[in-house]
Amino acid sequence: MTELRLILGDQLNPEHSWFRQRSDRVVYVMLELRQETRYVLHHAQKIIAIFAAMREFARQLSQQGHRVRYVQLDDPSNRGSLTDNLDALIAHYQAVKFSWQLPDEWRLDQQLTRWATSCKVVTQSVDSEHFFCHREQVASFFGQRKTWRMENFYHEMRRRERVLMCPDGQPEGGAWNYDAENRKPWKGTPATPDDRRPVHNHEALWQSLTELEVPSFGEPHAADFRWPLDRQEALALLECFIRDDLRHFGQWQDAMHTDCWHLFHSLISFALNTKMLSPREVVSKAQAAWQNGEVPLASAEGFIRQVLGWREYVRGVYWAKMPGYRDNNFFNHQRPLPAWFWDANTKMNCMAHAIGQSLDQAYAHHIQRLMIVGNFALLAGLAPAEVHAWYLGIYIDAFEWVELPNTLGMSQFTDGGLLASKPYVSSAAYINKMSNYCSGCEYNPRERLGLNACPFNALYWHFFIQHQSQLAHNLRLSMVYHQLKKLSPQEQENITQHAQNLLIAIEKL
Ligand SMILES: Cc1cc2nc3c(=O)[nH]c(=O)nc-3n(C[C@H](O)[C@H](O)[C@H](O)COP(=O)(O)OP(=O)(O)OC[C@H]3O[C@@H](n4cnc5c(N)ncnc54)[C@H](O)[C@@H]3O)c2cc1C
Ligand code: SF4
Repeated sequence: MTELRLILGDQLNPEHSWFRQRSDRVVYVMLELRQETRYVLHHAQKIIAIFAAMREFARQLSQQGHRVRYVQLDDPSNRGSLTDNLDALIAHYQAVKFSWQLPDEWRLDQQLTRWATSCKVVTQSVDSEHFFCHREQVASFFGQRKTWRMENFYHEMRRRERVLMCPDGQPEGGAWNYDAENRKPWKGTPATPDDRRPVHNHEALWQSLTELEVPSFGEPHAADFRWPLDRQEALALLECFIRDDLRHFGQWQDAMHTDCWHLFHSLISFALNTKMLSPREVVSKAQAAWQNGEVPLASAEGFIRQVLGWREYVRGVYWAKMPGYRDNNFFNHQRPLPAWFWDANTKMNCMAHAIGQSLDQAYAHHIQRLMIVGNFALLAGLAPAEVHAWYLGIYIDAFEWVELPNTLGMSQFTDGGLLASKPYVSSAAYINKMSNYCSGCEYNPRERLGLNACPFNALYWHFFIQHQSQLAHNLRLSMVYHQLKKLSPQEQENITQHAQNLLIAIEKL
C-alpha cells in the first residue's frame, strides 16, 4: 500500500503539510535528472546549488524519520528522464498511489500531467503551498484582460492580504507606492554590508558533476560556495537583511556600482524560488520591521512590492499565457547574441561589469538585468529566444515561471505592451546617473556620434526611429517622440547610419 510522493528540485519546503506526519507507507522520491541539466545551459553555481540543496533536504527528511528514495545523477538505477524514473520506482515499490506538488514550470507540469493520464496507479497533484495566489486565481485575474498592469494587481493583493493597510482601507502613509523615493545613485555611503551568505565547500560535488560531463558555464566557486542551501541558512540571511539592510533597500535599489555587486539587495531569490523561504514570512517580517519603527515605510513598501506584487504578478502572466507567450516577438528581432555575452569581453564598461559579475556570481540585481543587459539586448535587436535562454541559464534564481515574463515581457517587450506599459530602454544618461560605470569606460556617455561615442546613445534613438509605427502612439512615449521631432532629418539619418555600423561591428563593441 505504498504511496510515492515526488519532490522536485525547487520544492524544498520543509514546512509543507506533507511532512507533518510520518508514515512508513509514504516514500518521498527525489531525483537528480539529466533532463534538468540539459534543457538549457546552466551556470555552474546554479547546478551545484540545486543538487547540494536537494541532497541536504533529503538528508534532513530522513533524519526526521521520513522514508526517502534519493536517486543521484550517477546512481546506476537512474533512468535519466523524470517519467522513466517514476515508472521504474512505482514498479520497484509496487506503489498504489503517486502524488506530486504542482510544478511551477509549464514544461514539467505538462510532462507530469501527460504521464499521469496513462499511469496505472492512482495519481494526485497537490498545491505547493508556497505562493499567495493559487494558479487558478491568477489565471482568472489575468485571463480576460487586454493589459495587465502590475500596479492594479498589487493594490488588490495589498487589500486582500491586509499588508501595509490602514483600518479604513487606505494604504499606510497615504500612498500605494514610494518608487519616486527609490531612485538614488550610491556614492559610497552608507557603507554596504559584507557578504553574509553562508560558506560551503562543494568541491567533491563539483568534481563528480564534471566527471559526469554535466554541461555548464560561469565560475563554480565550489570551494567557497556562498548560496544558502537549507531553510536555516535562508532564514539567517533573511534576518540579517531585514535587520541591517532593508532600511537602505528602498533608496538605493536602482543604484549600480563597481565597488559592490549586491549593494543593499537581499540575495534571497534562490532560497525563495526553491521554497526554503515562504513569501508570506518574507512580507510579514518586512512589514513588522516597519511597524516596529526599524525601517522607513518607503523601504518596507519598496521591498514588499517586489515580493507581494511583482513576483506573484509575473507568475500570473506566465500561467495565463503559456505556452504561446514564449514565442512572442513584437519587434521581430533576430540578431544572434554576441560572443561576449559568454565571456564579458566588451569595451562597454557597464556591459562588461554586469555580464562579468553574472558569470562570476550567478547574480545581477534587478536594474543590472533590466537597464544594462536587457536594455542593450532590446536596443541591439537581439533575438528574444536567445536572450531568454541566456537569462534562464545564468542566474542562480532563474526558473522559467519568473524568468520568462521578466525577460520577454518586461525587458524585451515581446508581448507588445501587455505586461509593461512601455519598453524599458535608456541612453547612457540614465546609466551614467545611476552608476559609476561610465567613469571607467572607453566610450563617452555624452557623445552620440563618432568612434568614442557611447553605443547606447545612437542605438537608443535608432530604436525609436526604427519602431516609430509600433511605438509613436504610446502616450508614455510622447516625450521621446517629441524630442525625436526636434532632430533634423539629416541628424536622424546620421544616427541611423552610426547605429547600423555599430550593429555590424557588434562583436567588437
Ligand atoms: C530580465 C530580468 C530577468 C529576471 N529573471 C529573474 C529570475 O529568473 N528569477 C527571479 O527570481 N527573478 C528574476 N528577475 C527579477 C529580479 O531581478 C530578481 O528577483 C532579483 O534581482 C533577485 O535578487 P534579490 O533576491 O537580491 O532581490 P531583491 O532586490 O532583494 O528583491 C527581493 C525579492 O523580490 C522578488 N522580486 C524582485 N523583483 C522581481 C521581479 N521583477 N519579478 C519577480 N520577483 C521579483 C525576488 O523574489 C527577490 O528575491 C528578473 C528581472 C529581469 C529584469
Ligand atoms: S559610456 Fe556607455 S557603454 Fe560605457 S559604461 Fe557608460 S553607458 Fe555603458
